Amino acid sequence: MVNMSPKILLAISVLAIIFVSGCISQVRPFEGGLFPPHEPPVCGDNVCEGDVFEENQCPRDCVSREHYAILEEGMFSVIVPKGYELLGEKHLEDLGYCYKLISGFLGIKPYYNRTFLIINVTERNDPKAGTGEAFFNTMIHYRIQEWIDMDLRAVEENIPGDFLYNLSPGHCANTHEFTHVFVGHLSLPQWANEGIASYAQKPLQQAFLDIECRENSLYQTDYWEDGKKKLFPYSDLDAGYDVDPNEDPATVALWYSTARCFWEYVDETYGREKMKEIFQKLNTISEEIRRTGLGSVNFIDDVLVPVLGKEIKVVLAERFGVES
Ligand SMILES: [Zn+2]
Repeated sequence: MVNMSPKILLAISVLAIIFVSGCISQVRPFEGGLFPPHEPPVCGDNVCEGDVFEENQCPRDCVSREHYAILEEGMFSVIVPKGYELLGEKHLEDLGYCYKLISGFLGIKPYYNRTFLIINVTERNDPKAGTGEAFFNTMIHYRIQEWIDMDLRAVEENIPGDFLYNLSPGHCANTHEFTHVFVGHLSLPQWANEGIASYAQKPLQQAFLDIECRENSLYQTDYWEDGKKKLFPYSDLDAGYDVDPNEDPATVALWYSTARCFWEYVDETYGREKMKEIFQKLNTISEEIRRTGLGSVNFIDDVLVPVLGKEIKVVLAERFGVES
């Protein structure tokens, strides 16, 4: 191993943890509007008018068949570099379990009738290396060559603790990014979107068990110092976060944990059915706006308050720094 300072090592291990749990990911906001500006991409005509990673493309029609293998079953397409088909098969199996689990958890279905997962090999110095991303109907995992080789070996040998270890109907390895796909057509603020994707991991991926959401603080690993558990004040969710995780992964991780704690608060205070009602109401309003082309929706005033009551606004402001 090359000579690295403990701080850098810590940062790398945070990123590794974050990847394993699929935490860091960017949700691309829709430009100038609440909903996808276009209809879902139509697949099958083999016409790609841009880049595979551009929005509103059908990735299946855009990737190079020379370099990628496409594995499909039902409503899922998994795209992996050639030679890594076994990895693709495992992801495909996982997505089937995920679909049922996430629909049950959120009480809604995705807007799109086809979901893509792309395993993309990138360079080590790419800030996206080790992270995931979701937009519209597409999830992307960014891996460097060395990691994807390790991923394949882990699957071949079924190594305990691996991302795709022990696939089963009660577990969803792709929870985080797939949850983004489920809620991607809804008008959720960034904190609510990242928060639900992270919170869904708790029951569905058995991840983040080391984080405790308390009344005025988080009890979790200190990523900056000694790796021991400590109390941290909640992040200001309104302040957002720097999307480049290389800037300060620990700060980003804290922001994600805070956003997750909002949903845990809702789930534990009001109950799972109320939590689902939030997504169902948002879904109904979104459909209406899409159908008529009229109106807009404010997540807090039009959805949270009618479903949970106005005291949620006080909690949001006082505990999580969300004012509007
Ligand atoms: Zn995310």
